[in-house]
Amino acid sequence: MSNPSASPSVPTLPSFRVGLGTDRHRLAEGLPLVLGGVRIESPLGSVAHSDGDVLLHAVIDALLGACAMGDIGEHFPPSDERWKGARSSDLLKQVLALIKQAHPAFQLLNLDATITLEAPKLSPYKQVIRQSLAELSGVSVGQVSVKAKTGEKIAPIGTLEAIDAQVLVLISL
Ligand code: MG
Repeated sequence: MSNPSASPSVPTLPSFRVGLGTDRHRLAEGLPLVLGGVRIESPLGSVAHSDGDVLLHAVIDALLGACAMGDIGEHFPPSDERWKGARSSDLLKQVLALIKQAHPAFQLLNLDATITLEAPKLSPYKQVIRQSLAELSGVSVGQVSVKAKTGEKIAPIGTLEAIDAQVLVLISL
């Protein structure tokens, strides 16, 4: 008996998913500030177990969220010495490999990021960060957006106590 839903004229649509990732780190003097794999000239850096790349942490959580595969803390617990000082770009590579293993048809369609930091101004870095994010995620630069905001001098971001990142991704599986 023929099955109309199995007809070759009916294309199989990919499954589209969105994922939201957010992260916040405290800032302290004398620590490196790395955003999207790019080193930023800043007297204040991110307090973290890893390299403290708040943007890549949000990217990782957005991707994991879109795939319903947990969160960054489950995959790389801060209590695990293996991740001490880890480069977040390496963590992202591992997460992308994990996702592709679970979903061979995985594609990142676009990534929209917002970084909130009082100082320094990120405008000179936005394009470099965008390029780096595209390379690390294996997509073209046109699929990646990087926006920057300040904390309007309101605590904790506006008082230079913290940095935030928010990332939204659209993927297909
Ligand atoms: Mg983090």
